[in-house]
Amino acid sequence: MQVFTSVIVLFLCFTAFVLYHIKDYRARKANSMISLAQVLGTNSISAIQFQDNEAGKNILADLRTVTPEVLNAAILDANNKVFATYSRAEVYNIDFTKNFIKGQQTKFVDKNLLVYKPINNNDEMVGTICLRVELSELNTIIKTQYTIAFILLIIGVALAFVLALIMQRYISTRLLSLVKFMNHVGATDNYKTHFVNDGGNDEISVLSTVFNKLLDQITESQQRKDEFIGIASHELKTPLTSIKAYLQVLEKREHDERNKVYVQKSLENAKKLENLVYDLLDVSKIQSGQLVLNMTEIDIDVLIDETITAFQIISKQHEIIKDGVLLGIIVTADKQRIEQVLVNLLSNAIKYSPDTNRVIVSTSKTDKNITIKVQDFGIGIAKEEQDKVFNRFYRIKEKSGHISGFGLGLYICNDIINRHHGTIHIESEPGNTIFSVSLPLTTKKVETEAAF
Ligand code: ADP
Repeated sequence: MQVFTSVIVLFLCFTAFVLYHIKDYRARKANSMISLAQVLGTNSISAIQFQDNEAGKNILADLRTVTPEVLNAAILDANNKVFATYSRAEVYNIDFTKNFIKGQQTKFVDKNLLVYKPINNNDEMVGTICLRVELSELNTIIKTQYTIAFILLIIGVALAFVLALIMQRYISTRLLSLVKFMNHVGATDNYKTHFVNDGGNDEISVLSTVFNKLLDQITESQQRKDEFIGIASHELKTPLTSIKAYLQVLEKREHDERNKVYVQKSLENAKKLENLVYDLLDVSKIQSGQLVLNMTEIDIDVLIDETITAFQIISKQHEIIKDGVLLGIIVTADKQRIEQVLVNLLSNAIKYSPDTNRVIVSTSKTDKNITIKVQDFGIGIAKEEQDKVFNRFYRIKEKSGHISGFGLGLYICNDIINRHHGTIHIESEPGNTIFSVSLPLTTKKVETEAAF
């Protein structure tokens, strides 16, 4: 764009420069020829008065040596009749009276200059000197000027190109690093970092300052939101626990079958609410860095079995099948939190495969870690969504919008596993989703190890 603008500007400048020179040359030529005609006119007065054609011709003939660029010349009398003529060798005579315009002294016709200079004697016009001047020099001037202009244009464009290249590299490097930083912030949701401004004073620096301010505002509003979530979930927890306890008592005491169903439904919903409150509390703890792990030694096989059994009681539609090897391993982990992860993955596997009836939990191990996989055959997660589902409050609306959830489970799972220095990842296509959780083996090995 810069080069293009430079080319246009340079082209316009050089055209103006050449045109100005042509105009200047023509004006100078016209003036000098008018002066020449003036001299010729003064010399011809007596020849006209005495009707001496020969004298008139002689006066004009001097032009051959004095000004060879004059192609034709003529002396007209007071009645505009031709009195004497002159033509340079090899040049035909022309009819000056044809182009004669009263009052006009010069005229440019076909690369020639025509000059008509009245001859005055004591304020009386006695005739006119006519000249046709060759402007061959003009062609040379035009040619030279255009060549110079063209060479300068090429040099100018080349310089503009080099400058644009250097400038562009400087600008785009900074712009690209800002874009890279923006993408990084977008991908990681890390709004606490800032773009390091290079101290410049241009638009890119203004842009980065505005972006940094925006990051501050986001961080601030996130902090306020986190505070609100923390306070609200804390305040909800106590009354909810008490509602749940009363409902449990009521469920045991109530003998009327219809009322019992109502109480059970209330209890179910209270439990859902309680799960949400606990999730929100966890989120709040994660955000404030207060999610502390209570590390103990746990038998991972037992934990998986217990979780599956508990789930199988609630889940009527899906059969949860255990597959793989017996890990036979004691790992040091937070039992409650690992159970929370398993519960979440199993609950998702069931929730997001409403048209199937199978969920497989498989286990495997290497020298360095153990892996637990939860596989379902449901709606699947598109490739581009697979990283995003671990973000806070992220849900895939088009596919699972009608299924209840808050988009917190995987965020919490991811944090818990990260705190255990493990990894969690997804392999998914429609009809087959596997969540794999790997935990490092900082463990004691137990004796039993058998395939099942
Ligand atoms: P929630 O299930 O409460 O919405 P999660 O954090 O557990 O929140 O899951 C985030 C999103 O990931 C879900 O909304 C859903 O769109 C998608 N998802 C999670 N597990 C599965 C799965 N097994 N199959 C398909 N989609 C899933």
